[in-house]
Amino acid sequence: MKKAPLKKAVAKAPAAGIVYTIAALDLAGHLFRVSLTVKQPAAIGQILSLPAWIPGSYMIREFSRNIVSIRAECGGKPVALAKLDKHSWQAAPCDGALVVEYDVYAWDLSVRAAHLDQQHGFFNGTSVFLSVLGQESAPHEVNIVQPQDAACKHWRVATTLPELKAKRYGFGSYQAANYDELIDHPVEMGDFALATFKAHGVPHDIVVTGKVPNLDLDRLCRDLKAICETQIAFFEPKSKKAPMDRYVFMTMAVGDGYGGLEHRASTALICARADLPTTASTGTEIGDGYLKFLGLCSHEYFHTWNVKRIKPAAFAPYQLQAESYTPLLWLFEGFTSYYDDLMLVRAGLIDEAAYFKLLGKTVNSVLRGSGRTKQSVADSSFDAWGKYYRQDENAPNAIVSYYTKGSLIALALDLTIRSKTGGAQSLDDVMQALWQRYGRDFYQGTARGVTPAEVEALFDEISGTRMKPFFERYIRGTDDVPLARLLAPFGVKYSDARKAEKPSLDVNLGRDGNDAKLAQVHQGGAAHQAGLSAGDVLVALDGLRVTGNPANLDALLSRHAVGAEVAIHAFRRDELLSFTAVLQGDRVPGVSMAILPVGKKSSGLPRPTAPVL
Ligand code: ZN
Repeated sequence: MKKAPLKKAVAKAPAAGIVYTIAALDLAGHLFRVSLTVKQPAAIGQILSLPAWIPGSYMIREFSRNIVSIRAECGGKPVALAKLDKHSWQAAPCDGALVVEYDVYAWDLSVRAAHLDQQHGFFNGTSVFLSVLGQESAPHEVNIVQPQDAACKHWRVATTLPELKAKRYGFGSYQAANYDELIDHPVEMGDFALATFKAHGVPHDIVVTGKVPNLDLDRLCRDLKAICETQIAFFEPKSKKAPMDRYVFMTMAVGDGYGGLEHRASTALICARADLPTTASTGTEIGDGYLKFLGLCSHEYFHTWNVKRIKPAAFAPYQLQAESYTPLLWLFEGFTSYYDDLMLVRAGLIDEAAYFKLLGKTVNSVLRGSGRTKQSVADSSFDAWGKYYRQDENAPNAIVSYYTKGSLIALALDLTIRSKTGGAQSLDDVMQALWQRYGRDFYQGTARGVTPAEVEALFDEISGTRMKPFFERYIRGTDDVPLARLLAPFGVKYSDARKAEKPSLDVNLGRDGNDAKLAQVHQGGAAHQAGLSAGDVLVALDGLRVTGNPANLDALLSRHAVGAEVAIHAFRRDELLSFTAVLQGDRVPGVSMAILPVGKKSSGLPRPTAPVL
């Protein structure tokens, strides 16, 4: 049987009243040129502004400082632009379409801004697209122009912006339903490596920019597919329906680097080349570097649900001109940090022993800093803008990470719910309830975030108990989560093997050439009590030279006993100072966890083989 040919669906151009054209103006000078046409500018004079921060990275970055020149015209005649504040302009009233042209300096090799050279171009909309005040909800169109330079002949485009008049991976025009969507699809252009896999039917691309000899794309696809399918099934156990039509892992490989930023249908990643798998290796084991990369991918992918759709009320909608405060980052970043590693176990990529090794690292990093006794994770979340994102040498003594302590809170809540409900409920049920009530329909109309009170009420509901004391102590308070006690009923032994007999100054050593510069001095430690400060350059310990090699300091210390007095000479700026330190036992925690053999379980619950996995 023959079917009548279907009338070819023609992508209908939205009545975009806002059209951007972005082109590489100068690869060597790292300049994008952006032309913005506003068909119907505001009668009183159109106001335009660039965001001060990018969602997912909670720091004021003032992207407008990279606009190096800007001009406007209407009907071929110049239009005056008045500066209103550091990121806003107002055009003089004009009769007809307003065209604004501006050049953006793009030389920030991070996932947060824009970068352009002969090797590739990358941008977030927050760095390059001025918003048109009053028309943020209207459709936006973007023309991405291929650079004319011969070096760019083979360049392609990777983005999850929906195509308007462009082929997949091609230059041309793309569209967004509104400004919020426009800035949530970063764009990578270059001669990148590309592979595609499907996760529960949804195409996922992995794009890798940067020279990576013998990159094992097949392995990447296989392992990422396992992670993605596990997470899709986690949030939608019945339908296995992903929340997006397609997804892109946009990766920049460099000599040394690490970071990721989540978006609704993609993530921008930066990683060390050595962390990516190579076809030159025949082994199947996952090395530490590749594990770190997979953990990063798992983290950003989990954000597709947790923070890109389930959002704190403060981010619905985002207010991008100034700080946007929420006390809930311990949930949005901490829970994501808890599940990122857990998903690697559930996806079958690592075993329980490897998981507990990762968990041990997190516990030790939380316990290392006394800042955890001064700042709660709720406060750490709220103050992310001025503290977590602006850490100085005193950070270990002053703040707690809502990532790491937040992930331990997730574990503690998971164990508590499992205990209280006899294993019938878990943190998974909380995440699924958050998804169903706040996340699933976020872009389909509800667009409502969750408040701190609603989060707490949900924990009461799922656990069947009043969780306020837990929130007061560990989330709004600064108590350490009692992991040893909580893990015991699940047959997991928690032990701390810190070396009390190892002499220590309790510092983190930095290196300045071959000099030993104190990066951080822990409060209450031997160096602090002796009067040493971060920034001091250690010259000698007991009359012997200290070098920048940490092993050298350890070797010098090891010749003394805990409790011994040692003379220390150090430069502060250019002045030589002398100190007397009383050496302490090592205060670096050495927590490890392991599943006890069956039969040695402590008590209580029927022991599942994998208690929280
Ligand atoms: Zn995150």
